[in-house]
Amino acid sequence: MIICDYNLYFSQIQNMKSKITAALALCFCVFAFDVFAQKSKEKPNPEIVKMLKEISAKRIESDIRKLVSFGTRNTNSEQDNPTRGIGAARDWIFAEFNKISADCGNCLAVEKQTYLQEAMLPPRGRVPVAINVTNVVATLRGTTDPNRIYVVSGHYDSMCQNPADAKCDAPGANDDASGSAAVIEMARVMSKRKFDATIIFMTVAGEEQGLLGATHFAKQAVEKKMNVEAMFTNDIIGGVTTFKNSRDRNSVRVFSEGVPSNETEQEATTRRGTGGENDSASRQLARFIKETADLYSPKFAVMMIYRRDRYLRGGDHIPFVERGFAAVRFTEPNEDYDHQHQNVGIREGKFYGDTPEFVDFDYVANVTRVNAASLANLALAPARPKNVGMVTARLGNDTEIKWDASAESDIAGYEIVWRDTVSPVWTNSQSVGNVTNFVMKAMSKDNYFFGVRAVDKAGNKSPVSFPRPVR
Ligand SMILES: [Zn+2]
Repeated sequence: MIICDYNLYFSQIQNMKSKITAALALCFCVFAFDVFAQKSKEKPNPEIVKMLKEISAKRIESDIRKLVSFGTRNTNSEQDNPTRGIGAARDWIFAEFNKISADCGNCLAVEKQTYLQEAMLPPRGRVPVAINVTNVVATLRGTTDPNRIYVVSGHYDSMCQNPADAKCDAPGANDDASGSAAVIEMARVMSKRKFDATIIFMTVAGEEQGLLGATHFAKQAVEKKMNVEAMFTNDIIGGVTTFKNSRDRNSVRVFSEGVPSNETEQEATTRRGTGGENDSASRQLARFIKETADLYSPKFAVMMIYRRDRYLRGGDHIPFVERGFAAVRFTEPNEDYDHQHQNVGIREGKFYGDTPEFVDFDYVANVTRVNAASLANLALAPARPKNVGMVTARLGNDTEIKWDASAESDIAGYEIVWRDTVSPVWTNSQSVGNVTNFVMKAMSKDNYFFGVRAVDKAGNKSPVSFPRPVR
């Protein structure tokens, strides 16, 4: 804002020309300070910058090669062979998480979450005989708000052409040793730090058989009433077709649904009356990730895809959004189907197979950095505001929004954000202080979309909550 009320201070300056010059100088000064204040709010957190530098493409490469060395990680493969099959991969990840935990004074709770999966017969079912499905999970407990949870996941199982084939080689370097290695590397660098909220580093099995491990976790989260505020799945983040000098090497897709998968018929009726098909909690999460990436990795872009997943396809975030949790998927910009779900070998002079030489490890490290920066910002910031309501008691061109006060002790206040209805991202914000309702004068809710976010005393901002109509 530019403040130009100079009369009081400059009334003693008699010369008109001097008066104008002084006034202009003051205006410029206030304007410049204001711009600086805006900018300074958007400065990266130096501790997060330092953490991102610690993320190592070399260690990620080594982890991907290790996972590939188990020959196959098909969920139906051997579980008690120490060198081949999904059991060997499971035990190696478990040991790796334990090593990481030992390095941070046992700061991680490491566990195998196992359930017995009944047979699901082909062609649709991909589990010929009943098997144990195991998620390997490491939890970094939050310091001040441990019940608020962020989950970052990759699937450590793999497949060749036939998802029920337990014997064929299925290196799965990109799909999805890349995502699993990203999660393990995040556990390494993030466990050395403290966050307000809890972060769960998870690698799941049974993705290729129908999102089995992720579904098990999401069901348990509902049963245990876990407050999962956000979930990321990293699946196929190896950049196989994005090798050096490709412009695609500098971006990652983040898929988010617009209309919630668990929307009720009543909520759909409300949405048809108010708009908001572009404003689910998952979409707000994607916008938060994009804003974070713009700040922390300006040369590596988040390409928001306004879709739940790729065309007619699925991933481990889906069991979460189906249960009402905000969740998104990270995937490279262009998948290479010669190196995905293939039997390894040369056919008609062409090599097929998901092997490590088609993975761009520096690229995986960059995707890992976008994840880690977003997770760190989420887990340091307050929770997104709850019970955010658009007050509709009477018609008018002012817009009144109300919300519940944050329970967090370091809350500084709230911001109202808004955008034109055709804008994909939030374009404006206004700090409104530590209040629980606010009226935007002469700004009609018919003409803009509004949201609210919480800000703590250190300047950390939550994702945006989109209001629902209330009387
Ligand atoms: Zn996958």
